[in-house]
Amino acid sequence: MADQTNTAPEKALAFDYVDRNAEAIALLNDSIFYFGELGMQEVETAKLMTELLEDGGFKVERGIAGFPTGFCATYGSGSPVVAIHTEYDSNPDNSQKPGVVEAASIVEGAPGHCEGHNVNGTVLVAGALAAKAAMEKYGLKGTLKVFGAPAEEQLVSRPYFVRDGWFDDVDVALTPHIGSEFGVGYGLIQSALISAVFTFHGETAHAGVAPWKGRDALDAVVLMDVGMAEYREHLIPTGQCQRVITNGGNQPNVIPKTAAVWWYFRASTAEGAMSVYERAKKIAEGAALMTNTTYDVDLQSAVWPVRGNQTMAELVQAEYERVGAPDWTREEDDLARALQEKAKAKVEGLSRTVFRMKGPATQKTAANDAGDVSWKVPMVKIYFPANIPNISFHHWAAGVALATSIAHKGAVAGSKVLAGSVIECFRNPQVVADAKATFAKELEGTNYFSMLPPDQKPPADLNRAMMEKFRPQMREHYIKERPKFV
Ligand SMILES: [Zn+2]
Repeated sequence: MADQTNTAPEKALAFDYVDRNAEAIALLNDSIFYFGELGMQEVETAKLMTELLEDGGFKVERGIAGFPTGFCATYGSGSPVVAIHTEYDSNPDNSQKPGVVEAASIVEGAPGHCEGHNVNGTVLVAGALAAKAAMEKYGLKGTLKVFGAPAEEQLVSRPYFVRDGWFDDVDVALTPHIGSEFGVGYGLIQSALISAVFTFHGETAHAGVAPWKGRDALDAVVLMDVGMAEYREHLIPTGQCQRVITNGGNQPNVIPKTAAVWWYFRASTAEGAMSVYERAKKIAEGAALMTNTTYDVDLQSAVWPVRGNQTMAELVQAEYERVGAPDWTREEDDLARALQEKAKAKVEGLSRTVFRMKGPATQKTAANDAGDVSWKVPMVKIYFPANIPNISFHHWAAGVALATSIAHKGAVAGSKVLAGSVIECFRNPQVVADAKATFAKELEGTNYFSMLPPDQKPPADLNRAMMEKFRPQMREHYIKERPKFV
């Protein structure tokens, strides 16, 4: 149950702002859903989000840290500097009609939102505008920075933002992410990950007539795979390796001179992920030696495990209790139950629970590119209820609720919690000082460093071909009406 007794007037104003703009929030949410843009290609999404922030009085810097669809929007001045950030990218082959309880693509084979990053982006903008309304009306001192972070699904942008200094002057950070209920934790929440593409280079030859003249790059990819399979037995306990072959040659009668394999290396710590990566490079070297080829490696991203700061988590928990879970209707609950049944998940409808804070959290094997931010400054990850419980992401079923009233109500609740938490940091400077003090203790013995090479550039062409292929058909489903925040 929501408990809004003793709600500070700054927060009451922000909550009113969110309620007043519920229609704009729904429209923004659905607009991003139908854009359905993959990481690094979030052109329409970033355009709409930045225009709304600009209309709302934020100063916007676009294309930050070499990311065409990344941005930083700023309001206010001086300290404290509070950063909020999140992602808005979709997944390949996840096009799904909202509100339909069976696998049904909007555009066959196209990308789509099946993790709810459309709701994340919505909450970021609406929470920012609501907090700004309160800062302006009550003259709250400090700077609010809103970061748009492209390509979370490929774990790309935020390690670059941190490496390039975008968080150097930030005091505390908050990141909203969709869930099926309110939930916050502290300690290690997610895992570290290194994403690297290994490309082998050989020489072509006629495969039937003179194969002895060729140097086969695909052989090297295969031998690296064999070497990695043997290595798996000796991995550190939290280590994991996954791969896809992104280039296996062109046709069987030409010995491939180029072949490539894209690896993810995971571990519970940054050092652990780095040690797995170093071993993989040795195995690649061996594969190159055996096949008389050469190789290069493109380290596309390297993220630290997401951690939560205890002071910031406690602050968010208080806002959860103030806002309370959405009041779901019978129809919304029925949709949830029908989907749970169809997806063979536990049938229990929508969640009305506000959980007590969990901590220290249980570390998950999933990763998020927000990890580096959480070692640079005290950070908290805010889960809010806008999806159906017991349905796992990256599956058609996880797309069903994302442009319905379930997502709309969840976005309203998430925006209030985000705005309330930000306002608390501005009206109560002690909480920022406390967060920094507990953060220093939590980090004792760990020195954060960026795992990215200093000259590494973001992969700007990531997902471009797939997005270009589907965009013309997807465009027919774009929402014409533009959200207007007042
Ligand atoms: Zn996500």
